[in-house]
Amino acid sequence: MTNKSFNSSIDLMNYVYHRAYKLSKVLNCKEIPIYCVIAKFDKRSNSYKVIVESSNKIETDNCSIKHAEIVCILEIFKLKSIRFLDEYDIFVSLEPCMMCASTISYARLKSIHFYEFNNEGGFYSSKNPLFLTQKHLFRPKIIIHKVQKSKSYKCQNIIKIFFKKIRG
Ligand SMILES: [Zn+2]
Repeated sequence: MTNKSFNSSIDLMNYVYHRAYKLSKVLNCKEIPIYCVIAKFDKRSNSYKVIVESSNKIETDNCSIKHAEIVCILEIFKLKSIRFLDEYDIFVSLEPCMMCASTISYARLKSIHFYEFNNEGGFYSSKNPLFLTQKHLFRPKIIIHKVQKSKSYKCQNIIKIFFKKIRG
């Protein structure tokens, strides 16, 4: 568990984006730079408290399903010993894929926050009926953020930067 907290979902999304951006700059790293945080909104302090955070671990652990979201979800279940995550929100730098979105639904996370669209395999942009019909048992709220541009880093497409770097 970390002791990081953020005053708003926008501040937390900026943090997640910044971490992914930093990952995209790491030399010789083959892991796709995606960052994920699961946080809980604390009413007393009126802020989001970070509970777990991770990047993708596909290359690190040589396991094809270790997307950042899956790593975080498994970690928080282990940490909290609870069946559902309905008091928690998930923040991801990139729109989750079908596997992760489905897992997020099964885990019953309250909301999905993301910044960058994933036109290739995202659950939202690829117009998959997931979450768009009444058939899904649990449909988290979907919040799409715009990261503030006037920071020390430029707001760019992280995934594009990454593939440009590895392909030269
Ligand atoms: Zn995924």
